[in-house]
Amino acid sequence: MNTPFNNYLTNLEKAAKILNLSEKETAALREPNKVIEKKISVALDSGEQKEFNAYRVQFNNARGPYKGGIRFHPAADISEVKALAALMAVKCATVNIPFGGGKGGVQCNPKELSAGELEKVARAWARAMADDIGVDKDIPAPDVYTTPEIMAYILDEYEKIKGRSEPGLITGKPIDLGGSLGRGTATAQGAVYVLEELIKMLGKEQGQLTVAIQGFGNAGYFAANILHNLGYKIVAVSDSKGGIYNATGLNPVEIMKIKEEQGSVTNAAGAQIITNEEILTCDCDILIPAALDNQIREDNTAAVKAGIILEISNGPTTPAADKILREKGVVVVPDVLANAGGVTVSYFEWVQNRMGYYWTEEEVFAKLKPIMVKAFQDIWRFAEEKKIALRDAAFILAVERIVKAMRLRGRV
Ligand code: GLU
Repeated sequence: MNTPFNNYLTNLEKAAKILNLSEKETAALREPNKVIEKKISVALDSGEQKEFNAYRVQFNNARGPYKGGIRFHPAADISEVKALAALMAVKCATVNIPFGGGKGGVQCNPKELSAGELEKVARAWARAMADDIGVDKDIPAPDVYTTPEIMAYILDEYEKIKGRSEPGLITGKPIDLGGSLGRGTATAQGAVYVLEELIKMLGKEQGQLTVAIQGFGNAGYFAANILHNLGYKIVAVSDSKGGIYNATGLNPVEIMKIKEEQGSVTNAAGAQIITNEEILTCDCDILIPAALDNQIREDNTAAVKAGIILEISNGPTTPAADKILREKGVVVVPDVLANAGGVTVSYFEWVQNRMGYYWTEEEVFAKLKPIMVKAFQDIWRFAEEKKIALRDAAFILAVERIVKAMRLRGRV
């Protein structure tokens, strides 16, 4: 079965084999250290009391405190959150920042909840998890459909319970509560740093390359914007309601205006309407999945036309699709590298909170770029040397680092 967690296990087993890990070492990475699954109850505006499933999965903390976002989504079940927590451990090790991996979630549809109800859900999540999270223990952040405002409610609730200020508890906060400059665009900016290095390696001309982006949330929108400003041609974008394609190019700022005013990118005039499935196989040089997992699968991969896939979302490509893409000669920049700019600036936010001293946006990006570039170059060279895919190279380098830390702690 193509569950996100099974996909993680397939990638783990491949890395474990090449690294010659013992059974005990591999087993330690097959299951999370701790799974917290609770029911939270919230009074809706209608007066009805509603229960939601709330999760935090603490996957591995050998390299540092658990780190990872919280998503509010109807599909956020325990299998997905477990997979995302595992990917966070691999991601933090890929870019070599001193964190482990965790992930949280609330199974809910935020589009059906009012702002007040969302605040209650966030505060209830914080109360349910207060004893398991903390600046030196487990540091949450935003993910799909969670925002800096939600982070602020979680921080406030947690600090009330603990009776102390602890801004480094959570990252992706509003700037006025200790958030880092640059965090909002960090995922997209990090992905673009990696893409530009890849394009140099491939010896391609950057200007005029065409780009399709599935998902117009925080990461997808900023990626579209940064690439547009660099001279790439954005030919297709989509949101949860569908997508648009225009071979002559789209202006992301104008499309965002339409989405904000009319609810969806599909209301833009002069573009061909396409589905979220069609955007994956549209005519483009670079495909950027920036929505949900399991999008590029065995059944639709043959039709992919892009030569480069830059995974801004977590887990968009299944292992079976990876195999077909490699045979087709498509270069896949894996999520654990491509979207690691977000958690890297979360790390900077945590560092700044602990120092109580804040950096300019220029300083943040000047620190982010070398981390992304080095991670890309290490993975690229290793993949070339071993004649393997970038995902396999990233997993091998990351798993090796995690296992080294587990060995040093005498855990395996
Ligand atoms: N949710 C983001 C991710 O999947 C960011 C996590 C973080 O900043 O801790 O990488």
